[in-house]
Amino acid sequence: MKAEQVGEGVHRVADGLVNWYVLEEDGRLALVDTGWPRSWPTIEGALSALGRSPADVETILLTHGHPDHLGAAERARAATGAPVRAHRDEVARVRGESKDASPFKLVPALVPQLRRGAAMRFVFQATVQGFMTPKWVREVDAFDTGDELDVPGRPRVVATPGHTEGHVAFHLPSRGVVIAGDEIVVRDPITGASGPRIPHDAVNAQPARSRESLVQLEGLEADTLLTGHGDPWRGSMGDAVARAREADAD
Ligand SMILES: [Zn+2]
Repeated sequence: MKAEQVGEGVHRVADGLVNWYVLEEDGRLALVDTGWPRSWPTIEGALSALGRSPADVETILLTHGHPDHLGAAERARAATGAPVRAHRDEVARVRGESKDASPFKLVPALVPQLRRGAAMRFVFQATVQGFMTPKWVREVDAFDTGDELDVPGRPRVVATPGHTEGHVAFHLPSRGVVIAGDEIVVRDPITGASGPRIPHDAVNAQPARSRESLVQLEGLEADTLLTGHGDPWRGSMGDAVARAREADAD
């Protein structure tokens, strides 16, 4: 599995239909999301391709607790000893203790979408990769909105609730990068549409709230938008948000 450099000290791993990221500074590493429940061998492979080992991972950050993002976090925590960190409002979901955490909660909204080829491919891959049997994280350290985290790239926590209740983006001002998780995606895994957009409402816990959260990204100084699904997108965050709103109005 290859990691693609997408910014200074920022690597993207396209793990099938989902992305996760490695932040790097002076040999210190942080993971942002950990792919699918069965992604641990992919993570090991990507670290090795970067010339690093699991012992170099200091922190595991999560944008949110969907099983294609929290993925192999518990396995990675056990293998690296690194803490898993998520927003305070997301901790219960990441631990599997929230009533909304079960992937079966998504099924009723997803079933009508399976007439779409893209949704079918995503659901197939998700099933094979363990989406329906998430590995919840036993110990989670909370961070809060506005925190600047002492990890490579010094990401600042930007709360973007709606896709899930404690969803966050990470802003790395010194790298000109925003990692937006599933607040904005560049390829919608359900519809297959590309360009910055809010993911399909079938996967948004609180759709209206996820739209309101766009304003949190709009003014961030960055020229690279990295998301949970789709390729990196280059341009201003104001432009990305404008495109997401436009796509939403279609
Ligand atoms: Zn998600």
